[in-house]
Amino acid sequence: MAHVWNGIIREYLDRMPFDESDTIVTLGEGGTPLVPAPSISKEVGASVFVKVEGMNPTGSFKDRGMTSAITQVVKDGDHTVVCASTGNTSASAAAYAAHAGLRCVVMIPQGKIAAGKMAQAIVHGAELVQVDGNFDECLDIVRELSQNYPIALVNSVNPYRLQGQKTAAFEIVDQLGDAPDIHMLPVGNAGNISAYWMGFKEALQHGDSTRLPKIWGVQAAGAAPFVAGHPIKDPETVATAIRIGKPASWDLAIAARDESGGWIRAVSDSQILNAQARLAADVGVFVEPASAAPIAGLLAAAALGEVPAGATITCTVTGNGLKDTATALAGREIEPTVIPVDTEAAAKVLGL
Ligand SMILES: *Cc1c(COP(=O)(O)O)cnc(C)c1O
Repeated sequence: MAHVWNGIIREYLDRMPFDESDTIVTLGEGGTPLVPAPSISKEVGASVFVKVEGMNPTGSFKDRGMTSAITQVVKDGDHTVVCASTGNTSASAAAYAAHAGLRCVVMIPQGKIAAGKMAQAIVHGAELVQVDGNFDECLDIVRELSQNYPIALVNSVNPYRLQGQKTAAFEIVDQLGDAPDIHMLPVGNAGNISAYWMGFKEALQHGDSTRLPKIWGVQAAGAAPFVAGHPIKDPETVATAIRIGKPASWDLAIAARDESGGWIRAVSDSQILNAQARLAADVGVFVEPASAAPIAGLLAAAALGEVPAGATITCTVTGNGLKDTATALAGREIEPTVIPVDTEAAAKVLGL
């Protein structure tokens, strides 16, 4: 009989901070596809796969962290959750809070979140507060709120978030039969890079894999504090999900980079948009701009001759392209040809 996926907490219960007696808040997250990318593999001379996290219930990997964060909130008996967000955390928090019957408050940087993500927070019933500032400033506010009021913080500084997000590394090991040589992902607030490194280390300890991957992180050039070596004051990039200048998980991300023998580099916005278009047109996977950063970073590394021949490389593509169609379509001519209701006319336009 086919295996029915039960959400990441139940699937990996032996490695999660919960047990059978806990009331688990899940929307069935995880179990996302690991899709081969043949045209990119050919160009870089390696076996490249994309872990399609846009397939999660609210369209981003944040759901892996939210099932565990919200499950713990319910266990603690709290009734209100808060987060700062560039969009996807608020979409996910709003959905999981709705499912659990909790009040959800989200602080977002004014005018800097994609329309689809904003729509998600609204339809799931979150209370939206727009802040005349950037993500880092929103995070400062919600940290203080959670310290001074009875309200639970569900940003990735909440350790339960990383516990959930580490399961993506478990899945990659399960899907490949071992860890990859290199794992690549975008780096914003740096929770996910920290969670993957923890996940790959736990998979090794658990005996599921025989090795650890190098972690290659990719930032947007206008928001690249790890490349600069210090926080950035006014981060700017088209990839709003990684428009972050003061990453909360700084030390954990540096550890992931250095212990794995990897690196964190930056790519330009145009490299990101080209990689996004390429993934959609050549691989059939539509991702949001931030998610294309690792692909852009991989193509750039290949151009420098730095991709080991024949390596197995997995790239996390973090969020669904449908969340931000405006950016994906910007600068494209879209003028569909109109024809009468006539098959001959259709054949003619198609040059058949
Ligand atoms: C949150 C997010 C990121 C960045 O992840 P961090 O854990 O903050 O580094 C990247 N891409 C998408 C689509 C996101 O939602």
